[in-house]
Amino acid sequence: MENRVYNFAAGPSMLADDVLIRMKEELFNYKDTGMSVMEMSHRSKIYLKIFEETKDTLRRVMDIPEDYEILFMHGGATGQFAAIGLNILKGNKADYVITGNFSKKAAQEAAKYGEVHIAYDGKDNNYSHIPLQDELGLSPDARYVHICANNTIFGTEWKSFPDVKGKILIADMSSDILSKKVNVKDFGMIYAGAQKNMGIAGIAVVIIHKSLISEALADTPAVLSYELMQKNDSMYNTPATYPIYVLGKVLEWIEEIGGLEEMERRNRAKAAVLYDYLDSQAFYRPHAEKDSRSLMNVTFTTPDPELDVLFASEAAKQGLVNLKGHRLVGGLRASIYNAMPLAGAEKLVSFMRDFAKENDK
Ligand SMILES: *Cc1c(COP(=O)(O)O)cnc(C)c1O
Repeated sequence: MENRVYNFAAGPSMLADDVLIRMKEELFNYKDTGMSVMEMSHRSKIYLKIFEETKDTLRRVMDIPEDYEILFMHGGATGQFAAIGLNILKGNKADYVITGNFSKKAAQEAAKYGEVHIAYDGKDNNYSHIPLQDELGLSPDARYVHICANNTIFGTEWKSFPDVKGKILIADMSSDILSKKVNVKDFGMIYAGAQKNMGIAGIAVVIIHKSLISEALADTPAVLSYELMQKNDSMYNTPATYPIYVLGKVLEWIEEIGGLEEMERRNRAKAAVLYDYLDSQAFYRPHAEKDSRSLMNVTFTTPDPELDVLFASEAAKQGLVNLKGHRLVGGLRASIYNAMPLAGAEKLVSFMRDFAKENDK
């Protein structure tokens, strides 16, 4: 594990050392099959075991009730923006809460397949704020309410979920799934691209109440149909075999460290290191409002955009990489997903102190 950097990328992002070590151990010869998981038929007995175990472990770790289906789909979280429109909206009306770039994209995509009502849009505060209940303009005739649980680009996160008045709540949890406990029963559907907290790029994980799975719009591509995917146990076509295997390894690791309770404790401790420092000084300015801060993506700026660039390049020389913010916010962003160790956050704060001392005029 020499020469490994602290990778603060927003996604694809870090994997835990323990996960990588096991992937390496099993790479050439998985359990005496003489082949790697990447080379196996998805219909083989040995692969089906990996597949089923991954689903079972996800169910255990997230405490997913039996009346929810777990689907592994193609097309990332972005594919789901359309799939929700095709399978659930289907010409009806839905409320979308816009708290950042991805929730906006989700709304735009769904609007191709039904009526999308924008129940809130945080553009006036440049998405630094998660709306309170009374800021939401929910419509009485919406089929569901869609939110983005953690706003990867802007660094905000829902601390508690909105009261949707008995409606179906659908959440894009791409960047905070498995970071803490959530009550799956509060949602009609949870979905996530895997490349932030669940492993590597290539699958979208869909956790959906079975009652929401029904015939999709007639023109729906087969790979985006929940009904077809359910019928074929996510193997209507070749699933992304290796990303599913990696998800299994990530879940094993989470169980070994003590599950989502311990994961959340670690994530809170890690985020506190950064936020406590940000609150103690005046050189860096955090982007997100205090009550809306994300445990996963910490966004901030230095006093000058040129210093932001210098910060990212100087940090990289110290093994702290990918700290440049997204072009929509500018500045800097430290993504501290599950796999980022506390030592990474501590080293970053130590660098931030030194950098501020040198560049504060
Ligand atoms: C990364 C991300 C997406 C996009 O995921 P893809 O798998 O690239 O489609 C969507 N929503 C959120 C919250 C994200 O962080």
